[in-house]
Amino acid sequence: MTSRDMRLAQRLSAVSLSPTLAVMMESKALKERGVDVVDFGAGEPDFDTPENIKRAAVEALRNNLTHYTDTGGLLDLRRAIAARYKERHGAGWGPDEVITGCGGKNVLFLVALSLFEAGDRVAIYAPYWVSFPEQVKLCGAAPVIIEAREADGFVSRARDLEAHRDLKAVIVNSPCNPSGAVIPPDEVERLAAFAARTGAWLISDETYDTFHYGPGTFASLASEHARLRDRLVLVNSLSKTYAMTGWRVGYALGPRSLIDALRKVQSHDATHTSSISQAAAVEALNGPQDSVASMREEYRRRRDDLVRSLNGIRGIACTLPPGSFYVFPNVKGAMTALGCATSIEFARRLMTEIGVATVPGEAFGAPGYVRLSYALALDRIREGAGRLLRLLGRRDA
Ligand code: PLP
Repeated sequence: MTSRDMRLAQRLSAVSLSPTLAVMMESKALKERGVDVVDFGAGEPDFDTPENIKRAAVEALRNNLTHYTDTGGLLDLRRAIAARYKERHGAGWGPDEVITGCGGKNVLFLVALSLFEAGDRVAIYAPYWVSFPEQVKLCGAAPVIIEAREADGFVSRARDLEAHRDLKAVIVNSPCNPSGAVIPPDEVERLAAFAARTGAWLISDETYDTFHYGPGTFASLASEHARLRDRLVLVNSLSKTYAMTGWRVGYALGPRSLIDALRKVQSHDATHTSSISQAAAVEALNGPQDSVASMREEYRRRRDDLVRSLNGIRGIACTLPPGSFYVFPNVKGAMTALGCATSIEFARRLMTEIGVATVPGEAFGAPGYVRLSYALALDRIREGAGRLLRLLGRRDA
């Protein structure tokens, strides 16, 4: 039966399945056929959830924390989130200005459903995380794609918004998936000034905020909370920071009236995320943080190793990304060498010819690049880089 026969909603026609999930499924299928795939496609930590967090979940289960919770999430969890932003950024959000949900992706969708409608224009910097434009489109609004330039380290610049009138919102993501770019403090200030001046909402996705290795400094939009109180939505997640992707805990901080709107939507949707996951999240936020520091150090080591290897390969040029756990090299030279017209074709060749899974730049609105995740063991990173080197050759000195 075709989708026309099934009479699917029209709003789905402009939306595609998450391309990163598609790569995951493709490499899984190859692995099941016995192919040794080096999987740079993964968008999740290869670490296990720290033991103290798992123990808290077991404890919650034993204590029968198995009923509905508040739609916004347990008060203890919302308090822990508000306290973190107070302590780290001096931001004065209270527990009623916090909502938790089924991962950052779900919370972003609650934000989109609460704010966007037909006729709205929402600025998104490319390369962008795959779900930003699709969520905007699902709400009937129009994404306005703004280029973040490779020569500028893919930083989202406020000046590039000036040409666009009547923006309902601007979505920023720092550290960025896929580029690893981090918005420097002075640019954070300019973005906040733009939102304050034009009345656009500023939605800041800081899912990778703990994964910043330098050069430069990471600045949270939370530092602009006082100035942007009624225009700022900050979204974050426990998925990456605490290696908790499967637990599905994300959250948003914003003005009370918007958070109430998100609650309203969630009350007719998931109701809340799992009570057990919420208890685990309280421990993640309030408990020891040493596992976060050791994961960060390991990612830094892998990033440095991978970037060095990639820059030794003919046709690949990779800037050093200051954050997240992705690199986003320019592969235009390598594409030409292999006779590939698109990075989709290039990524497919890598997958089928040398068993290396990457995500093509088209998925992020940036053809000519591929995303490689370094959330995999160093020996696998070296194996993958070795395969690329054998395929493409060494860069001339
Ligand atoms: N935002 C960004 C930039 C991401 O990369 C992801 C996940 O890959 C998310 C949000 C959502 O993560 P989750 O829904 O697991 O919290």
